[in-house]
Amino acid sequence: MEKTIIGLDIGGTKMEAAIFINGQEVSRARIPTDRDLGYQSVLERLSKHILTTLESTNKGLGDVSGIGVGLPGTIDPKTSLMINGNSEIFINKNFSKDLKSILNANIEIRTANDANLFALAEVHRGAGLKFAAESGISPNEQIGIGIILGTGNGGGVIINGEAYIGRHGGGAEVGHHVLYSNGRPCYCGRLGCAEQYLCGPSIEASYKSKTGLTLRASEVFEETNESARQIQNQYQEDLLEFLMNLCTLFDPDYFVLGGGISTIEKIYENIEEKLWAGVFVKGSKPRVYKHQIGDSAGVLGAAMLFKEHML
Ligand SMILES: [Zn+2]
Repeated sequence: MEKTIIGLDIGGTKMEAAIFINGQEVSRARIPTDRDLGYQSVLERLSKHILTTLESTNKGLGDVSGIGVGLPGTIDPKTSLMINGNSEIFINKNFSKDLKSILNANIEIRTANDANLFALAEVHRGAGLKFAAESGISPNEQIGIGIILGTGNGGGVIINGEAYIGRHGGGAEVGHHVLYSNGRPCYCGRLGCAEQYLCGPSIEASYKSKTGLTLRASEVFEETNESARQIQNQYQEDLLEFLMNLCTLFDPDYFVLGGGISTIEKIYENIEEKLWAGVFVKGSKPRVYKHQIGDSAGVLGAAMLFKEHML
């Protein structure tokens, strides 16, 4: 029987919906999140967007077997509440319950952290397939870590095909381990969190404070002036330290990098060699891959919350 699953990727700036039939994407569209308009407005616009995207495939809510949602924060698996994250409007909200009530349909809705879903999608349909071809180890037996380097810095640790989420859903909040004690303040309350050095806005802020000029993070990496070079070198060192710490904790097969910064080729220069030279488990050679699926990993991972209908 045909199974229709909706995958939703709810970010700080855009909301994407995709329709999957028997595991294959048949339609995908995005709208702005416009967080400033408030939580209720987000829900109302999203529910309309879901219906429009469904209509484009000649389906209705009655045909849908499940809705998977990626949210930009830690989701407690017991209560479904979003506990923390950098998009405040979702904090302490039960998104699955609220979406269900506004859709007014009896469809099961599952939510999870967006970085975990990026990692899940990459392990099963992207980087994991590449690693399997190289190593002979199938995705269900791999240890893969997905890292988002974007507006924020998140992560997902996939062990034997499943995301490790910890007791309260915060098991892979890798962006909030400290790289510099007494470093830059983070919204989470600590000083020196990795996110404050690895996200796009931190690169832009560093360039502005050195030169007084405003550039996008990708543009800073194209510049050849001394200030830009210093920032580029520092970024590479910080990223290496970050991955090294994760190697010590998880001894993974590979990392897969996603988010806007992950498309900058320069961040990958010599990174594997340096990583392999420094890892605690001598002789281990974790790969560092650029994302393989691209833009659609978020909605695909969200739909994979209904793995029974997707794999
Ligand atoms: Zn933090």
